Amino acid sequence: MSVVCPECDNPLDIDVDDVEEGEIIQCDECGTDLEVVSSDPLELAPVDEEGYDDEDETPHVSEDEDE
Ligand SMILES: [Zn+2]
Repeated sequence: MSVVCPECDNPLDIDVDDVEEGEIIQCDECGTDLEVVSSDPLELAPVDEEGYDDEDETPHVSEDEDE
């Protein structure tokens, strides 16, 4: 199964049988560490060195625009 790097869209050829949830792989294109957050379907998330952002809210706030 192939999945693309969430950072650079580089197609990564990953065998789902070779990875486990929580495993960290590295994109060979941009070097970003990617955590396997889900193996079925295969889903990757970049590992933030500063830790996870627990905020689920959208980080960007519109400035005095109409709501
Ligand atoms: Zn990448």
